[in-house]
Amino acid sequence: MAIVIKNLNHIYDLGSPYQTNALDNVSMHIETGDFVGLIGHTGSGKSTLIQHLNGILKPTSGVIEINGFDITQKGVKLNDIRKKVGLVFQYPEYQLFEETVAMDIAFGPKNLGWEPDVVEQAVISAMEIVGLNYETLKDVSPFELSGGQKRRVAIAGVLAMKPEVLILDEPTAGLDPKGRDEILNQLKALHEKEKNTIILVSHSMEDIAKYVSEIYVMNDGQVVLEGKPQQVFQNIQTLEKIGLAAPQVTYVGQKLAELGFSTDHDIYTVESAVEEILTLIRRKKNA
Ligand code: ADP
Ligand code: MG
Repeated sequence: MAIVIKNLNHIYDLGSPYQTNALDNVSMHIETGDFVGLIGHTGSGKSTLIQHLNGILKPTSGVIEINGFDITQKGVKLNDIRKKVGLVFQYPEYQLFEETVAMDIAFGPKNLGWEPDVVEQAVISAMEIVGLNYETLKDVSPFELSGGQKRRVAIAGVLAMKPEVLILDEPTAGLDPKGRDEILNQLKALHEKEKNTIILVSHSMEDIAKYVSEIYVMNDGQVVLEGKPQQVFQNIQTLEKIGLAAPQVTYVGQKLAELGFSTDHDIYTVESAVEEILTLIRRKKNA
């Protein structure tokens, strides 16, 4: 088990008139190697939750174990947590600050005390994962890059530390569809190769449906649904009640069923919809 969260509560500004109960008794069990989607409306507690997983926020109460190690105990060093858990913040490009792309990506690994040649290798492979050419970009100022490239540099800076658990807070926010698909496909390729644990925070059901194997849905600081995509997307009414929706193609499947076509599979990606509709057409031809 990579991550075990038990009865996690977080109250901001405890005792003040602005007191907010941002996490309300959250429990999760995430297996090593899972690609997990965390979805929920703005303000549902997603960012608060993931900032607990690398020690930036301390729980008001509750337990968090990363690979069997309770990170909420007193005396735990943040650097020890961050070797295991890499967190890419939302709009991480705002935190770029070094003179060159390579220096920026090297910042984390250097802080972990790695030797210069190990750091350089880590920078090269992190840039490769996010599709940035090392030779042409290493000496460029990050501030000269496009928005999408800056985002990749920031993601590479976390990947370079080779975390066992990688968490990304809305990594595609503000990108165009092409940039979004590229980054998500790179994460998928990374996951297939390294079998690392990835938590992807998103408010796009389409993105989540296409890439992850487990979903947690949050609302108002609580986990309201969890399971495999096909299980979670069956709860269309619950999703709609909390301002979300199943992926659009799921409604195609529902409509087909309403019209009397029995489908064999749950439809939640465009690919699965195409496959299922073709099967129905073939069946009709053969009937
Ligand atoms: P999400 O990432 O799902 O949008 P957040 O974790 O950012 O949700 O927010 C959960 C709740 O906690 C919201 O009500 C939000 O206003 C509140 N909140 C978030 N960050 C802070 C903070 N630093 N201080 C006080 N309240 C906060
Ligand atoms: Mg957030």
